[in-house]
Amino acid sequence: MFNSFIQAQTCIQVFSTFHELCTAIRLDYPPPHCSTAQTSFYPRLKAALSSHWKAKSLFDKLDKRFLSKEYFADQRSHKAGGFRAAQDLKVKMGTRNSFSQMLAFSLKYTGMSQVLIIGAGPCGLRTAIEMACLGAKTVVLEKRDNFSRNNVLHLWPYIITDLKTLGAKKIYGQFCSGAIDHISIRQLQLILLKLTLLLGVEIIVNVSFEGLCPPTSSQVFADGWTARVIPDNHTISNYEFDVVVGADGKRNTLQGFTRKEFRGKLAIGLTVNFINRRTTAEAKVEEISGVAYIFNQHFFKDLQSSTGIDLENIVYYKGDTHYFVMTAKKHSLISKGVLKQDSENTNELLCYSNIDQKALMQYAREAADFSTNHQLPDLEFAINQFAQPDIALFDFTCMYAAENAALFREVNGQKLLSCLVGDSLLEPFWPMGTGCARGFFAAFDLVWMTRQLAMKRRNSNNSVELSVLAERESIYRVLHQTTPSNTMKKHQNYTIDPNTRYVNLNLKAVHVDQVKTLYLTDREVATPTDPDDATPMVVDQPEPSTDVQLSMIRPILSWCQSTTKGYAGVDVQDLTSSWKSGLALCALVHRFRPDLIQWAELDYMDVEANNQLAFDVAEQNLGISPVMTGKEMANCSEVDRLVMLTYISQFYEVFKNETP
Ligand code: FAD
Repeated sequence: MFNSFIQAQTCIQVFSTFHELCTAIRLDYPPPHCSTAQTSFYPRLKAALSSHWKAKSLFDKLDKRFLSKEYFADQRSHKAGGFRAAQDLKVKMGTRNSFSQMLAFSLKYTGMSQVLIIGAGPCGLRTAIEMACLGAKTVVLEKRDNFSRNNVLHLWPYIITDLKTLGAKKIYGQFCSGAIDHISIRQLQLILLKLTLLLGVEIIVNVSFEGLCPPTSSQVFADGWTARVIPDNHTISNYEFDVVVGADGKRNTLQGFTRKEFRGKLAIGLTVNFINRRTTAEAKVEEISGVAYIFNQHFFKDLQSSTGIDLENIVYYKGDTHYFVMTAKKHSLISKGVLKQDSENTNELLCYSNIDQKALMQYAREAADFSTNHQLPDLEFAINQFAQPDIALFDFTCMYAAENAALFREVNGQKLLSCLVGDSLLEPFWPMGTGCARGFFAAFDLVWMTRQLAMKRRNSNNSVELSVLAERESIYRVLHQTTPSNTMKKHQNYTIDPNTRYVNLNLKAVHVDQVKTLYLTDREVATPTDPDDATPMVVDQPEPSTDVQLSMIRPILSWCQSTTKGYAGVDVQDLTSSWKSGLALCALVHRFRPDLIQWAELDYMDVEANNQLAFDVAEQNLGISPVMTGKEMANCSEVDRLVMLTYISQFYEVFKNETP
């Protein structure tokens, strides 16, 4: 039964095999609602399956995580494997302001904190695993019972380490074998679903979260916060929660969070999945782990002249399917008849009625065929959840990020921590594969916040929410800047503690005064029946960025500034005009390779020659292809920031570990 559970390949199969397994070993799933049932679920399951070698090898892995010290209330509990940090998240009785409230609280008190996670996507499930380890009774609500997304995610190295330490390879043997650093969303969800179930997390599918219901007012007995769901007669609407986590993707139903928009130039993405029949011929075809126009202009020019298809980039990964994702230029979609009418309005441009599906399929097939050198024998479309060919055009011109990561609501003395993770918090920029990487970081940060809340409530009689919020927002400020190269190198040491992951973290960057508006009491809730209407104001947040690449620019820019410091005529302030003269590029090379450029012999006024020299030297000695000629650089009115970012990032990759 355990083997069937591990091998299950659909969401429904996972549930049915798990129920059978639990029934056979007489273990109640979901665990009953009492303070120790959830935390004792995994140890009991493990004990019952201890003689099964495959189960044991997975549990040995999981144990290392489950028994980490961060999850326990104190050292003694850690040693004894006892009380977990978030087992009791309730506000201390001493902080209740009247005898009647204390009485009501003690009557209702079950000693159990309950966390609701909306959405069983990769980030919701990853949050659930950490919450379960922290000892909180965790419930995940998912509106679908079908994990059908074939699209493949490129994973940052830390995610691979993280999932391997959780035992991902014991569940899915092919997980990131050899040089493979990607997995389909479907497989990732299946792995995480199995892990969450083993840890006793209650997962409810086919139920959609619609909103929050505040505690009803009563002098003595105040109910807790509950969820409004569809179908509305589902038992989950009786559950009370202390923490609610919005992990339902970019559409985000958990209200009260304002969002800022990042707008870039028009960007049209195209994803397509073809059936992988796993033949020898298919096995031989090489993956394309990300080719952008500036790196391989010949390829894209050839593609255009042979097919009329004009792309900015393309990725091809082989897994359960042959997965391609590319950014297509509008004019080529129009000239190939994919888009019927041109429009300045992106919604109109990409609406279903403006897309010729047959032409789109032909476009994708030609692009895939050409980019794999015509080696994929037959490009037959895989089928998506709607029983249609798995192909989609999408717009990523605009992306959104929540202004703040968390807020508190208090109605009738009942406090609720509301937070966001994953795409709900910070929409990813797919060419950088930031989705799961920043999504999982946010999950860890949120669980750390929950831990801080529980610990501080335990140790203090005062209200601790604002200080916990301030710390959470301080950590959130660094999230959008994270890259694989500016986070801690020892991935095996990563925990929910943000100090193990972020470099130069200032936990006090945001002051308590700045988060007061994120604490909504009864007075600030618009109407008692619908607290979601209240929109918090955020004070002293950084200026909203107008450019999606900002998070990538900052670390590169500061590296360039320190590297070129002291060179006459060089003052790097940006990734555009500061590079026009060519001197900054020459300085960058000269700092690390003085043998390649005679700095003293440069003519400061000869912009074309300086740029050409830097381009040539970099191409011949560092393997960095030029993005334009020296002449083009000298004559262009404005240097393209994204082009320069990508170009200079390569110098960073080449020199990052070298001391000048
Ligand atoms: P989702 O995966 O969107 O999951 C949300 C879940 O919530 C869904 O299961 C949904 O059914 C459920 N739900 C929604 N509403 C409700 C509700 N009201 N009630 C209950 N349940 C609800 N990321 C990478 O890391 N690497 C990549 O290479 C990469 N490439 C990408 C390429 C493309 C073209 C795109 C579009 C994205 C890419 N991403 C990539 C991003 C990645 O897919 C997301 O970051 C990731 O899936 C986010 O996970 P999530 O859990 O936050 O949300």
